[in-house]
Amino acid sequence: NLTQRMSRVVKTMRGQARLTESNTQDMLREVRLALLEADVALPVVRDFVARVKEKALGVEVADSLNPGQALVGVVHQELTNLMGADLGDNASELSLAAQPPAVILMAGLQGAGKTTTTGKLAKWLSEGGHIQHGRKTGKKKVLVVSADVYRPAAIEQLKTVAAQVGVEFLPSDPSQKPADIARHALDHAKRHHFDVLIVDTAGRLGIDEEMMREIRALYDLLNPIETLFVVDAMQGQDAVNVAKAFADALPLTGVVLTKLDGDARGGAALSVRHVTGKPLKFVGVSEKLDGLEPFHPERMAQRVLGMGDIVSLVEQAQRNIDIADAQKITDKIKAGDKFDLNDFRDQLQQVKKLGDMGSLLEKLPAQFSQAASQLQGGQAEQQLRRTEGILNSMTPAERAKPELLKASRKRRIAAGSGVSVQEVNRLLNQFEQMQGMMKQMKKGGMAKMMRGLGG
Ligand code: GDP
Ligand code: MG
Repeated sequence: NLTQRMSRVVKTMRGQARLTESNTQDMLREVRLALLEADVALPVVRDFVARVKEKALGVEVADSLNPGQALVGVVHQELTNLMGADLGDNASELSLAAQPPAVILMAGLQGAGKTTTTGKLAKWLSEGGHIQHGRKTGKKKVLVVSADVYRPAAIEQLKTVAAQVGVEFLPSDPSQKPADIARHALDHAKRHHFDVLIVDTAGRLGIDEEMMREIRALYDLLNPIETLFVVDAMQGQDAVNVAKAFADALPLTGVVLTKLDGDARGGAALSVRHVTGKPLKFVGVSEKLDGLEPFHPERMAQRVLGMGDIVSLVEQAQRNIDIADAQKITDKIKAGDKFDLNDFRDQLQQVKKLGDMGSLLEKLPAQFSQAASQLQGGQAEQQLRRTEGILNSMTPAERAKPELLKASRKRRIAAGSGVSVQEVNRLLNQFEQMQGMMKQMKKGGMAKMMRGLGG
């Protein structure tokens, strides 16, 4: 897998100072092969590798960084982005923000899993699993209908599924036209105050124009808030052409990747996302009707990378990136720039982003982490928030020149951040100590400290 391949190259890159055309070449070849093995379509692989290359060559690698590790970091980040992290936090959520009924149209080839997913979604929504902007929106009254008039068994199948998940099923029959079924369902859902109408459709074994015209007509008639492209993860490379045909014919809003419980390597996720540009919203992980999960870009990136040890590889790279950040501070001190409360606040914000205080502090220069842990007085997270609150209540000018902070300003800051004046004083005292230590570092300990950082 990709991780094994990259680990091998990381080792050979040890001792090299920076990412260059020639040393990234080997690594990128491994990335390319691993993605092909993961069943990602060739044009997608090419694009991806080109993007990683561009990013990697633009990355400034500090001397303390192993370029191989830096490249792993870039690959992981780009992969997570391509999976949809770049679309933002809520991209994977369904939108139901429509005048009821919110219509969901299911599109995809025969056997992709449309009918099953219709049942799964109906269950998910009727049980209140739906999340919007990070919050559950409550139980929905859901109606399902089948416009698959080519196979009588298909309508029966949806009826069975609907009964299993306990949602209402609107009967239709093969003698009707799909458009008439849709019109009738919309009308029925309106009259009976359904929140959501899910319309299951017919699929062919391959892409054909008649089917595309039909589903486009359904789209125009129903004006769905969600048009979901359902695709079988096991399709691997072929998923690209199918996805392209559907994306051209319909304004898709999202993708459901089914059968991920098979031996699918997840490559289809990358391909489909790349071709449609639409977010993956759910994955199907079982034939059973509770086998639906919201999509997580990060997890899928890890699946493609080969799970497990990629995390440690990336953490290793990350640690070095932290060190590079720490080095920026020390460079600043070395250059004789003043380390002020604005810098301090930036540092705190970075620490917060990275989450785990304890392990991050270990990576900072010893003197700095000592001072910082004193500042926190143990209760890391909570204290961090208070400290940040105090810093935020200062003006940039005050942060740049703490000596401006006389009694009245301190009272204002204390009131603004909901702490006592003593606490503001304590922060300022500790910061002063920290500055003192930094001056010491500048004079004597620098060489030693830099050695420590590099090792
Ligand atoms: P449709 O033709 O697009 O409506 O596809 P169906 O919903 O009838 O599904 C085709 C087959 O795939 C059925 O046997 C389903 O049980 C199976 N299936 C659908 N989704 C999943 C899934 O996420 N995991 C597994 N293992 N099987 C699935
Ligand atoms: Mg079906």
